[in-house]
Amino acid sequence: SDTHSEYNRKQTHEMFEELYCNGLINEKTQTMPYCRDDERFLPDRYIEGECPHCGGLARGDQCDDCGKLVEPTEIENAECQICGGNSIEFEETDHLFLDLTKFKDELKEWLKEEKPVPENMVKQVRHDIEEAEERSITRDQNWGFKVPTERVNERIDEENLDLEKLDPEKYDEKVLYVWFDAPIGYIGFTRELFEDNEEWKDYWINGHSDNYYSIGKDNTIFHTVIFPTMLMGASTEEEQYNLPHYEFIQDFLMAEDTQFSKSRGKGLSTTDALEMYPVDYWRFYLASNLPQEHDTTFSWSDFEERINNVLNDTVGNFVNRTLSLSEKWFDNKVPVADHTSRDEEVIREAEKLVDEYETEFENHNLTEALEKAVSLARLGDQYLSEEEPWNNEDRRAETINVAIQIIRGLGVTLYPFTPDTSEKIADMLNTEIHTEEGFDELLDPLLGGIEAGHELGEREILFEKIDTEEKRAEEEMKDEEKHDLNTDTVGFEEFGEMDIRVGQVQKV
Ligand SMILES: [Zn+2]
Ligand SMILES: [Zn+2]
Repeated sequence: SDTHSEYNRKQTHEMFEELYCNGLINEKTQTMPYCRDDERFLPDRYIEGECPHCGGLARGDQCDDCGKLVEPTEIENAECQICGGNSIEFEETDHLFLDLTKFKDELKEWLKEEKPVPENMVKQVRHDIEEAEERSITRDQNWGFKVPTERVNERIDEENLDLEKLDPEKYDEKVLYVWFDAPIGYIGFTRELFEDNEEWKDYWINGHSDNYYSIGKDNTIFHTVIFPTMLMGASTEEEQYNLPHYEFIQDFLMAEDTQFSKSRGKGLSTTDALEMYPVDYWRFYLASNLPQEHDTTFSWSDFEERINNVLNDTVGNFVNRTLSLSEKWFDNKVPVADHTSRDEEVIREAEKLVDEYETEFENHNLTEALEKAVSLARLGDQYLSEEEPWNNEDRRAETINVAIQIIRGLGVTLYPFTPDTSEKIADMLNTEIHTEEGFDELLDPLLGGIEAGHELGEREILFEKIDTEEKRAEEEMKDEEKHDLNTDTVGFEEFGEMDIRVGQVQKV
């Protein structure tokens, strides 16, 4: 979705009005960078220089190196990014500021009681809350949402509020700064999803939902201090915005050897990644390598190993082996079985894994939860290998029956990570996996949910082994072919032969 949608404009203006009328937005005279050559104020990103804290590269309002927020006036050896010059002066201009001090106690309480961030982030977040003062939310530029002066002034009149009115003329030249409306976009998108039907409120108001966030560590302060302050400040007695229930604050996934091809250069775009391999491969890899608590490094060989050894050899093979045997021996139906104590034991182990899976989820350990799901496949595969139904005809019905139940559990538990795969498993089992009733109903009963005699669906191969080196060479070839097609241009000599004239249309 787009944060510049009409839905988000509406949401942004509503929240602005509440914040202003609750006394959280104040006007202040600010000294801003002004480029003499360009004759204009410079928005944050248009001024770069040395960070006053670490000497690294500071761009506008944040240092790329140490991540600290900086004021443009503090930047040393500042350079204008429009003209590249150094004729930067600081001139006075009025701006609106969001007061970040009013809800410090509530924020600290939230941090302590609700445990909304990973343990290793608590100290930093507490520090950020304590240090927070104010943040300017308007800019002298012409793109962005307007400051809703009219509705604010009307409200001040209507309710006889003891607040300064906003000067419409002054704010006609200014807009709300993008970081103000960007997080509000989460709510704006929800309004868009429901086409502004009141249903969006179920997701954002009065605690009807738990709101989860997944952010990069460089975005922490926006989501732990600034946005929560906005949510509290824009709440009314009847309608309280939900504070974040939990924020997955990820470290960085570093790229070791993503040099993709000569023409595409460094990095791997989502589009390129999805052209190469199915989305579930990437989801699976990323979920099992989430950079929690420290940065992790992506490498092609690591990716290949996870897909081939775990997704294909463990998950894919177990499902395929079981279903091809049931096709061969039981006419593609779930066999009738009297479970032995060995079978019961495997069922109990599977149920235990699912319990652990749920606990990991509740504790926000996504990678560990995925590992529990994969363990179901390991358990089932090991069970088949030990019982050897292919050598042991009177064990066939029980083992295949149990293995099919485990596949169903596998399909359910993999759903949050690899939904396409889960849908395929559901089709192969000729059953539902993602239903409206929710997770608990799906897992109860985890085993025995598919009854004896149930007709299975058509079998298909879930995954294929990958060779990333070969694939990248293929992609590179494609690039070169494309490049060859584009070489049909003229040389300078021929170009010089051309007669190019400029005319003006005077009448149509
Ligand atoms: Zn710095
Ligand atoms: Zn300039």
